[in-house]
Amino acid sequence: MDLKLSAKHEALRAQIREFLKLHGHQSAPTIPGDRPNTALLAWQKLLLEHGYAGRTVPQHYGGYGAEPDVMEQHLIVEEFTRAGVALGIGNQGISMLVPTLLELGTEQQKREYIAHTLRGELVWCQGYSEPGAGSDLAAIQTRGVDDGEDFLINGQKIWTSTAHAADMIFCLVRTEPDLLKHQGLSYLLFSMKTPGISVRPLKTMTGRAEFNEVFFTDVRVPKHQIVGKRGDGWKVANATLKHERAYLANPGMLIQRYAEVAKLMQGKGLSGVPAIADPILMDRLMELQGRVLAQRCHGMRLLTLADKGQDPLLAGLITKLQGCEIRFQLSSLAVDALGEVGLLLQGSEHTRADGIWQERKGFDLGLVIGGGTAQIQKNIIAERGLNLPREPRAAA
Ligand SMILES: Cc1cc2nc3c(=O)[nH]c(=O)nc-3n(C[C@H](O)[C@H](O)[C@H](O)COP(=O)(O)OP(=O)(O)OC[C@H]3O[C@@H](n4cnc5c(N)ncnc54)[C@H](O)[C@@H]3O)c2cc1C
Repeated sequence: MDLKLSAKHEALRAQIREFLKLHGHQSAPTIPGDRPNTALLAWQKLLLEHGYAGRTVPQHYGGYGAEPDVMEQHLIVEEFTRAGVALGIGNQGISMLVPTLLELGTEQQKREYIAHTLRGELVWCQGYSEPGAGSDLAAIQTRGVDDGEDFLINGQKIWTSTAHAADMIFCLVRTEPDLLKHQGLSYLLFSMKTPGISVRPLKTMTGRAEFNEVFFTDVRVPKHQIVGKRGDGWKVANATLKHERAYLANPGMLIQRYAEVAKLMQGKGLSGVPAIADPILMDRLMELQGRVLAQRCHGMRLLTLADKGQDPLLAGLITKLQGCEIRFQLSSLAVDALGEVGLLLQGSEHTRADGIWQERKGFDLGLVIGGGTAQIQKNIIAERGLNLPREPRAAA
Protein backbone atom coordinates (compact mmCIF):
# COMPACT_ATOMS: atom_id res chain seq x y z
CA MET A 1 0.00 0.00 0.00
CA ASP A 2 1.03 3.58 -0.58
CA LEU A 3 1.52 5.19 2.85
CA LYS A 4 1.96 8.69 1.45
CA LEU A 5 -1.13 10.86 1.94
CA SER A 6 -2.73 12.68 -0.98
CA ALA A 7 -3.14 16.48 -0.82
CA LYS A 8 -6.82 15.99 0.02
CA HIS A 9 -5.98 13.71 2.94
CA GLU A 10 -3.18 16.00 4.17
CA ALA A 11 -5.72 18.83 4.22
CA LEU A 12 -8.18 16.73 6.18
CA ARG A 13 -5.47 15.83 8.70
CA ALA A 14 -4.66 19.50 9.25
CA GLN A 15 -8.38 20.21 9.66
CA ILE A 16 -8.79 17.45 12.26
CA ARG A 17 -5.75 18.67 14.21
CA GLU A 18 -7.15 22.21 14.25
CA PHE A 19 -10.53 20.92 15.41
CA LEU A 20 -8.92 18.90 18.20
CA LYS A 21 -6.85 21.89 19.32
CA LEU A 22 -9.94 24.10 19.51
CA HIS A 23 -12.50 21.63 20.84
CA GLY A 24 -10.69 18.52 22.17
CA HIS A 25 -11.14 19.68 25.79
CA GLN A 26 -14.94 19.42 25.36
CA SER A 27 -14.80 15.66 24.72
CA ALA A 28 -16.63 13.29 27.05
CA PRO A 29 -16.29 9.49 27.32
CA THR A 30 -19.01 6.87 26.83
CA ILE A 31 -19.69 5.03 30.08
CA PRO A 32 -20.73 1.42 29.32
CA GLY A 33 -24.31 0.73 30.39
CA ASP A 34 -25.21 4.42 30.94
CA ARG A 35 -27.26 6.80 28.79
CA PRO A 36 -25.12 9.56 27.24
CA ASN A 37 -24.95 12.51 29.68
CA THR A 38 -25.37 16.17 28.69
CA ALA A 39 -21.63 16.68 28.04
CA LEU A 40 -21.46 13.61 25.79
CA LEU A 41 -24.59 14.63 23.86
CA ALA A 42 -23.08 18.08 23.24
CA TRP A 43 -19.77 16.51 22.11
CA GLN A 44 -21.60 14.15 19.77
CA LYS A 45 -23.53 17.10 18.25
CA LEU A 46 -20.26 18.92 17.54
CA LEU A 47 -18.73 15.81 15.96
CA LEU A 48 -21.78 15.31 13.73
CA GLU A 49 -21.65 18.93 12.59
CA HIS A 50 -17.97 18.59 11.62
CA GLY A 51 -18.29 15.13 10.06
CA TYR A 52 -16.29 13.25 12.70
CA ALA A 53 -19.34 11.14 13.58
CA GLY A 54 -21.90 9.74 11.13
CA ARG A 55 -19.50 10.88 8.38
CA THR A 56 -20.82 8.79 5.50
CA VAL A 57 -24.44 8.62 6.68
CA PRO A 58 -26.63 10.59 4.22
CA GLN A 59 -27.68 14.04 5.43
CA HIS A 60 -31.39 13.26 5.15
CA TYR A 61 -30.83 10.57 7.81
CA GLY A 62 -28.99 12.99 10.11
CA GLY A 63 -25.42 12.24 9.02
CA TYR A 64 -22.73 14.41 7.45
CA GLY A 65 -23.18 12.99 3.97
CA ALA A 66 -19.53 12.54 2.91
CA GLU A 67 -18.62 10.07 0.20
CA PRO A 68 -17.20 6.83 1.63
CA ASP A 69 -13.40 7.13 1.84
CA VAL A 70 -11.63 4.57 4.03
CA MET A 71 -8.49 6.69 4.31
CA GLU A 72 -10.51 9.62 5.68
CA GLN A 73 -12.09 7.37 8.28
CA HIS A 74 -8.65 6.01 9.19
CA LEU A 75 -7.21 9.51 9.59
CA ILE A 76 -10.03 10.60 11.88
CA VAL A 77 -9.53 7.60 14.18
CA GLU A 78 -5.75 8.02 14.10
CA GLU A 79 -5.76 11.73 14.92
CA PHE A 80 -8.33 11.44 17.71
CA THR A 81 -6.39 8.50 19.17
CA ARG A 82 -3.09 10.38 18.99
CA ALA A 83 -4.68 13.31 20.84
CA GLY A 84 -6.28 10.96 23.40
CA VAL A 85 -9.71 12.40 22.59
CA ALA A 86 -12.89 10.28 22.69
CA LEU A 87 -14.57 9.75 19.32
CA GLY A 88 -18.14 10.49 20.40
CA ILE A 89 -20.76 7.99 21.44
CA GLY A 90 -19.86 4.34 21.00
CA ASN A 91 -22.96 2.27 21.65
CA GLN A 92 -24.92 -0.58 20.10
CA GLY A 93 -27.36 1.74 18.35
CA ILE A 94 -24.74 3.83 16.58
CA SER A 95 -22.14 1.16 15.91
CA MET A 96 -24.37 -1.82 15.15
CA LEU A 97 -27.98 -0.89 14.38
CA VAL A 98 -27.41 2.21 12.22
CA PRO A 99 -25.21 0.36 9.66
CA THR A 100 -27.70 -2.54 9.68
CA LEU A 101 -30.61 -0.19 8.93
CA LEU A 102 -28.63 1.56 6.20
CA GLU A 103 -28.07 -1.83 4.59
CA LEU A 104 -31.39 -3.57 5.19
CA GLY A 105 -33.94 -1.21 6.78
CA THR A 106 -37.03 0.26 5.10
CA GLU A 107 -37.06 3.94 4.14
CA GLN A 108 -39.47 4.63 7.00
CA GLN A 109 -37.21 2.88 9.53
CA LYS A 110 -34.18 4.84 8.33
CA ARG A 111 -36.02 8.17 8.62
CA GLU A 112 -37.58 7.34 11.96
CA TYR A 113 -34.54 6.01 13.79
CA ILE A 114 -31.13 6.86 12.32
CA ALA A 115 -30.90 10.60 13.09
CA HIS A 116 -32.13 10.27 16.69
CA THR A 117 -29.77 7.34 17.25
CA LEU A 118 -26.74 9.17 15.81
CA ARG A 119 -27.43 12.15 18.06
CA GLY A 120 -27.49 9.83 21.09
CA GLU A 121 -31.11 10.68 21.93
CA LEU A 122 -32.36 7.18 21.16
CA VAL A 123 -30.57 4.43 23.09
CA TRP A 124 -30.86 0.82 21.90
CA CYS A 125 -30.18 -2.60 23.36
CA GLN A 126 -29.57 -5.88 21.56
CA GLY A 127 -31.94 -8.77 22.34
CA TYR A 128 -30.15 -11.83 20.97
CA SER A 129 -28.86 -14.14 23.75
CA GLU A 130 -31.19 -16.34 25.80
CA PRO A 131 -30.53 -18.72 28.71
CA GLY A 132 -30.39 -21.64 26.22
CA ALA A 133 -28.92 -19.78 23.24
CA GLY A 134 -25.63 -17.89 23.31
CA SER A 135 -22.94 -19.33 21.07
CA ASP A 136 -25.68 -21.32 19.35
CA LEU A 137 -27.70 -18.17 18.70
CA ALA A 138 -30.06 -19.76 16.17
CA ALA A 139 -31.45 -21.92 19.02
CA ILE A 140 -33.41 -18.96 20.46
CA GLN A 141 -36.89 -19.80 21.74
CA THR A 142 -38.51 -16.38 22.27
CA ARG A 143 -41.67 -16.61 20.15
CA GLY A 144 -43.27 -14.01 17.93
CA VAL A 145 -46.75 -15.34 17.16
CA ASP A 146 -48.70 -13.91 14.21
CA ASP A 147 -51.69 -12.03 15.64
CA GLY A 148 -53.29 -10.03 12.84
CA GLU A 149 -51.50 -6.67 12.50
CA ASP A 150 -48.96 -7.58 15.20
CA PHE A 151 -46.55 -10.18 16.50
CA LEU A 152 -47.20 -11.27 20.08
CA ILE A 153 -43.84 -11.78 21.80
CA ASN A 154 -43.25 -14.16 24.72
CA GLY A 155 -39.93 -15.34 26.12
CA GLN A 156 -36.72 -14.23 27.80
CA LYS A 157 -33.43 -12.60 26.80
CA ILE A 158 -30.29 -12.50 28.92
CA TRP A 159 -27.01 -10.51 29.09
CA THR A 160 -28.85 -7.60 27.44
CA SER A 161 -26.40 -4.70 27.81
CA THR A 162 -27.94 -1.30 28.64
CA ALA A 163 -31.54 -2.69 28.61
CA HIS A 164 -32.20 -0.82 31.88
CA ALA A 165 -31.40 2.50 30.16
CA ALA A 166 -32.56 1.79 26.61
CA ASP A 167 -35.49 3.33 24.75
CA MET A 168 -35.64 0.62 22.08
CA ILE A 169 -34.54 -2.95 21.42
CA PHE A 170 -33.49 -4.75 18.22
CA CYS A 171 -34.61 -8.24 18.96
CA LEU A 172 -34.35 -11.66 17.39
CA VAL A 173 -37.49 -13.81 17.76
CA ARG A 174 -38.78 -17.09 16.35
CA THR A 175 -41.75 -16.38 14.09
CA GLU A 176 -41.79 -19.62 12.08
CA PRO A 177 -41.48 -22.49 14.61
CA ASP A 178 -42.04 -25.17 11.95
CA LEU A 179 -39.01 -24.24 9.85
CA LEU A 180 -35.37 -25.26 10.42
CA LYS A 181 -33.86 -23.20 13.22
CA HIS A 182 -31.88 -20.73 11.08
CA GLN A 183 -34.87 -20.12 8.81
CA GLY A 184 -37.57 -19.36 11.36
CA LEU A 185 -36.26 -16.10 12.83
CA SER A 186 -37.28 -12.46 12.44
CA TYR A 187 -35.53 -9.25 13.52
CA LEU A 188 -37.88 -6.75 15.19
CA LEU A 189 -37.53 -3.20 16.52
CA PHE A 190 -39.69 -2.09 19.42
CA SER A 191 -39.91 0.30 22.33
CA MET A 192 -38.71 -0.91 25.74
CA LYS A 193 -41.80 0.87 27.14
CA THR A 194 -44.17 -1.53 25.34
CA PRO A 195 -46.48 -3.13 27.94
CA GLY A 196 -45.35 -6.64 28.98
CA ILE A 197 -41.58 -6.00 29.19
CA SER A 198 -39.74 -6.30 32.47
CA VAL A 199 -36.01 -5.78 33.02
CA ARG A 200 -33.93 -7.31 35.85
CA PRO A 201 -30.33 -6.05 36.26
CA LEU A 202 -27.36 -8.45 36.47
CA LYS A 203 -24.34 -7.19 38.41
CA THR A 204 -20.96 -7.98 36.84
CA MET A 205 -17.45 -8.25 38.29
CA THR A 206 -16.92 -4.54 37.49
CA GLY A 207 -19.24 -3.91 40.45
CA ARG A 208 -21.83 -2.33 38.13
CA ALA A 209 -24.94 -3.71 36.47
CA GLU A 210 -24.23 -3.10 32.78
CA PHE A 211 -26.43 -5.90 31.52
CA ASN A 212 -29.80 -7.46 32.35
CA GLU A 213 -32.37 -10.18 31.96
CA VAL A 214 -35.37 -9.06 29.88
CA PHE A 215 -38.74 -10.82 30.08
CA PHE A 216 -41.51 -10.53 27.47
CA THR A 217 -45.13 -11.37 28.31
CA ASP A 218 -47.62 -10.84 25.47
CA VAL A 219 -45.64 -7.92 24.08
CA ARG A 220 -47.47 -6.56 21.04
CA VAL A 221 -45.21 -5.41 18.15
CA PRO A 222 -46.69 -4.11 14.86
CA LYS A 223 -45.55 -6.18 11.87
CA HIS A 224 -44.04 -3.19 10.05
CA GLN A 225 -41.39 -3.07 12.81
CA ILE A 226 -39.57 -5.98 11.16
CA VAL A 227 -36.17 -5.40 9.50
CA GLY A 228 -35.74 -7.50 6.37
CA LYS A 229 -38.28 -10.17 5.50
CA ARG A 230 -40.16 -12.37 7.92
CA GLY A 231 -38.06 -15.52 8.51
CA ASP A 232 -34.93 -13.71 7.26
CA GLY A 233 -33.79 -12.63 10.74
CA TRP A 234 -30.65 -14.80 10.66
CA LYS A 235 -29.29 -12.78 7.74
CA VAL A 236 -30.13 -9.45 9.42
CA ALA A 237 -28.73 -10.62 12.78
CA ASN A 238 -25.44 -11.54 11.09
CA ALA A 239 -25.21 -8.16 9.38
CA THR A 240 -25.39 -6.61 12.86
CA LEU A 241 -22.84 -9.10 14.27
CA LYS A 242 -20.34 -8.17 11.57
CA HIS A 243 -20.51 -4.53 12.73
CA GLU A 244 -20.44 -5.59 16.40
CA ARG A 245 -17.19 -7.50 15.97
CA ALA A 246 -15.48 -4.59 14.24
CA TYR A 247 -16.78 -2.16 16.91
CA LEU A 248 -15.52 -4.26 19.84
CA ALA A 249 -11.97 -4.57 18.46
CA ASN A 250 -11.13 -1.18 17.02
CA PRO A 251 -7.29 -0.96 16.54
CA GLY A 252 -7.35 2.80 17.37
CA MET A 253 -8.69 1.98 20.82
CA LEU A 254 -5.84 -0.55 21.34
CA ILE A 255 -3.19 2.05 20.54
CA GLN A 256 -4.81 4.49 22.96
CA ARG A 257 -4.98 1.82 25.68
CA TYR A 258 -1.37 0.80 25.11
CA ALA A 259 -0.22 4.43 25.46
CA GLU A 260 -2.16 4.76 28.74
CA VAL A 261 -0.62 1.58 30.20
CA ALA A 262 2.91 2.60 29.14
CA LYS A 263 2.40 6.00 30.80
CA LEU A 264 1.05 4.40 33.97
CA MET A 265 4.09 2.09 34.17
CA GLN A 266 6.51 4.98 33.79
CA GLY A 267 4.98 6.77 36.80
CA LYS A 268 6.01 6.09 40.39
CA GLY A 269 4.75 2.76 41.76
CA LEU A 270 3.72 2.00 45.36
CA SER A 271 7.34 1.49 46.42
CA GLY A 272 8.45 4.69 44.67
CA VAL A 273 9.98 2.70 41.75
CA PRO A 274 8.22 2.81 38.36
CA ALA A 275 6.63 -0.51 37.34
CA ILE A 276 8.56 -0.37 34.06
CA ALA A 277 11.77 -1.05 36.03
CA ASP A 278 10.45 -4.54 36.83
CA PRO A 279 11.85 -6.81 34.06
CA ILE A 280 8.83 -9.13 34.05
CA LEU A 281 6.30 -6.30 33.73
CA MET A 282 8.53 -4.59 31.16
CA ASP A 283 8.70 -7.81 29.15
CA ARG A 284 4.89 -8.09 29.15
CA LEU A 285 4.59 -4.47 28.01
CA MET A 286 7.03 -5.05 25.13
CA GLU A 287 5.21 -8.15 23.99
CA LEU A 288 1.90 -6.26 24.01
CA GLN A 289 3.47 -3.35 22.17
CA GLY A 290 4.43 -5.78 19.39
CA ARG A 291 0.92 -7.23 19.26
CA VAL A 292 -0.73 -3.79 19.24
CA LEU A 293 1.50 -2.66 16.37
CA ALA A 294 0.73 -5.88 14.50
CA GLN A 295 -2.99 -5.12 14.91
CA ARG A 296 -2.40 -1.61 13.62
CA CYS A 297 -0.64 -2.96 10.52
CA HIS A 298 -3.41 -5.50 10.14
CA GLY A 299 -5.96 -2.65 10.30
CA MET A 300 -4.06 -0.93 7.46
CA ARG A 301 -4.12 -4.13 5.45
CA LEU A 302 -7.91 -4.31 5.88
CA LEU A 303 -8.11 -0.67 4.87
CA THR A 304 -6.14 -1.33 1.70
CA LEU A 305 -8.43 -4.22 0.78
CA ALA A 306 -11.51 -2.10 1.48
CA ASP A 307 -10.06 0.69 -0.64
CA LYS A 308 -9.67 -1.72 -3.54
CA GLY A 309 -13.21 -3.02 -3.00
CA GLN A 310 -11.91 -6.48 -2.06
CA ASP A 311 -13.41 -8.78 0.58
CA PRO A 312 -10.91 -9.24 3.44
CA LEU A 313 -12.13 -12.84 4.06
CA LEU A 314 -9.86 -14.51 6.65
CA ALA A 315 -8.05 -11.25 7.43
CA GLY A 316 -11.32 -9.68 8.63
CA LEU A 317 -12.21 -12.59 10.90
CA ILE A 318 -9.18 -12.42 13.17
CA THR A 319 -9.75 -8.80 14.23
CA LYS A 320 -12.29 -9.49 16.99
CA LEU A 321 -10.39 -12.45 18.42
CA GLN A 322 -7.04 -10.66 18.56
CA GLY A 323 -8.32 -7.19 19.40
CA CYS A 324 -10.44 -8.21 22.40
CA GLU A 325 -7.76 -10.51 23.83
CA ILE A 326 -5.05 -7.85 23.58
CA ARG A 327 -7.35 -5.28 25.17
CA PHE A 328 -7.96 -7.62 28.14
CA GLN A 329 -4.22 -8.31 28.50
CA LEU A 330 -3.44 -4.58 28.51
CA SER A 331 -5.93 -3.95 31.34
CA SER A 332 -4.56 -6.99 33.24
CA LEU A 333 -1.02 -5.63 32.93
CA ALA A 334 -2.13 -2.23 34.27
CA VAL A 335 -3.76 -3.90 37.29
CA ASP A 336 -0.57 -5.91 37.97
CA ALA A 337 1.61 -2.82 37.51
CA LEU A 338 -0.41 -1.01 40.19
CA GLY A 339 0.49 -3.72 42.71
CA GLU A 340 -1.98 -4.77 45.41
CA VAL A 341 -4.02 -1.53 45.14
CA GLY A 342 -4.67 -2.38 41.49
CA LEU A 343 -7.40 -4.74 42.67
CA LEU A 344 -9.42 -1.98 44.33
CA LEU A 345 -12.51 -0.65 42.60
CA GLN A 346 -13.70 2.95 42.52
CA GLY A 347 -14.81 4.21 45.92
CA SER A 348 -11.99 2.75 48.03
CA GLU A 349 -9.86 5.36 49.81
CA HIS A 350 -6.65 3.52 48.76
CA THR A 351 -7.53 3.18 45.10
CA ARG A 352 -5.22 4.56 42.40
CA ALA A 353 -6.31 5.91 39.00
CA ASP A 354 -9.82 5.91 40.54
CA GLY A 355 -10.05 2.10 40.22
CA ILE A 356 -10.44 2.46 36.46
CA TRP A 357 -8.04 -0.39 35.56
CA GLN A 358 -9.69 -2.99 37.75
CA GLU A 359 -13.07 -2.01 36.30
CA ARG A 360 -11.67 -2.12 32.75
CA LYS A 361 -10.09 -5.54 33.34
CA GLY A 362 -13.48 -6.96 34.38
CA PHE A 363 -15.26 -5.30 31.46
CA ASP A 364 -12.64 -6.24 28.87
CA LEU A 365 -12.82 -9.90 29.87
CA GLY A 366 -16.54 -9.64 29.03
CA LEU A 367 -15.66 -8.43 25.53
CA VAL A 368 -13.67 -11.63 24.87
CA ILE A 369 -17.03 -13.39 25.42
CA GLY A 370 -19.62 -10.87 24.11
CA GLY A 371 -20.34 -10.68 20.37
CA GLY A 372 -19.13 -14.31 20.00
CA THR A 373 -16.63 -15.99 22.35
CA ALA A 374 -12.96 -16.52 21.49
CA GLN A 375 -13.66 -20.22 20.90
CA ILE A 376 -16.51 -19.41 18.50
CA GLN A 377 -14.30 -16.91 16.68
CA LYS A 378 -11.69 -19.68 16.26
CA ASN A 379 -14.36 -22.00 14.85
CA ILE A 380 -15.43 -19.30 12.38
CA ILE A 381 -11.80 -18.67 11.34
CA ALA A 382 -11.24 -22.41 10.88
CA GLU A 383 -14.43 -23.05 8.92
CA ARG A 384 -15.03 -19.87 6.91
CA GLY A 385 -11.44 -18.63 6.69
CA LEU A 386 -9.33 -21.78 6.39
CA ASN A 387 -12.02 -24.05 4.88
CA LEU A 388 -11.47 -26.72 7.52
CA PRO A 389 -14.30 -29.25 8.02
CA ARG A 390 -17.32 -27.97 9.95
CA GLU A 391 -17.78 -29.24 13.46
CA PRO A 392 -20.76 -31.61 13.87
CA ARG A 393 -24.04 -29.74 14.34
CA ALA A 394 -27.55 -30.73 15.47
CA ALA A 395 -29.92 -30.99 12.50
CA ALA A 396 -32.55 -28.46 13.66
C1 LIG B 1 -20.04 -8.06 28.47
C2 LIG B 1 -21.07 -8.81 27.70
C3 LIG B 1 -22.07 -8.12 27.06
C4 LIG B 1 -23.05 -8.81 26.36
N1 LIG B 1 -24.05 -8.08 25.77
C5 LIG B 1 -25.02 -8.72 25.13
C6 LIG B 1 -26.11 -8.00 24.56
O1 LIG B 1 -26.19 -6.77 24.66
N2 LIG B 1 -27.08 -8.68 23.93
C7 LIG B 1 -27.05 -10.03 23.79
O2 LIG B 1 -27.95 -10.57 23.17
N3 LIG B 1 -26.04 -10.76 24.32
C8 LIG B 1 -25.04 -10.14 24.99
N4 LIG B 1 -24.01 -10.86 25.56
C9 LIG B 1 -24.06 -12.31 25.50
C10 LIG B 1 -23.00 -12.94 24.60
O3 LIG B 1 -23.30 -12.75 23.25
C11 LIG B 1 -22.90 -14.41 25.00
O4 LIG B 1 -22.43 -14.47 26.33
C12 LIG B 1 -21.99 -15.19 24.10
O5 LIG B 1 -22.51 -15.28 22.81
C13 LIG B 1 -21.74 -16.61 24.66
O6 LIG B 1 -22.93 -17.26 24.94
P1 LIG B 1 -23.18 -17.92 26.38
O7 LIG B 1 -22.84 -16.92 27.43
O8 LIG B 1 -24.54 -18.50 26.37
O9 LIG B 1 -22.09 -19.07 26.50
P2 LIG B 1 -22.18 -20.54 25.88
O10 LIG B 1 -22.61 -20.46 24.46
O11 LIG B 1 -22.99 -21.39 26.79
O12 LIG B 1 -20.67 -20.99 25.91
C14 LIG B 1 -20.05 -21.46 27.11
C15 LIG B 1 -18.62 -21.85 26.77
O13 LIG B 1 -18.60 -22.91 25.79
C16 LIG B 1 -17.85 -22.52 24.66
N5 LIG B 1 -18.50 -23.04 23.44
C17 LIG B 1 -19.83 -23.02 23.16
N6 LIG B 1 -20.07 -23.57 21.95
C18 LIG B 1 -18.84 -23.95 21.45
C19 LIG B 1 -18.41 -24.56 20.25
N7 LIG B 1 -19.27 -24.88 19.28
N8 LIG B 1 -17.07 -24.76 20.09
C20 LIG B 1 -16.18 -24.43 21.05
N9 LIG B 1 -16.53 -23.85 22.23
C21 LIG B 1 -17.84 -23.60 22.42
C22 LIG B 1 -17.89 -21.00 24.65
O14 LIG B 1 -16.78 -20.47 23.95
C23 LIG B 1 -17.84 -20.68 26.14
O15 LIG B 1 -16.52 -20.73 26.60
C24 LIG B 1 -23.02 -10.21 26.28
C25 LIG B 1 -22.02 -10.91 26.93
C26 LIG B 1 -21.05 -10.23 27.63
C27 LIG B 1 -19.99 -11.02 28.34
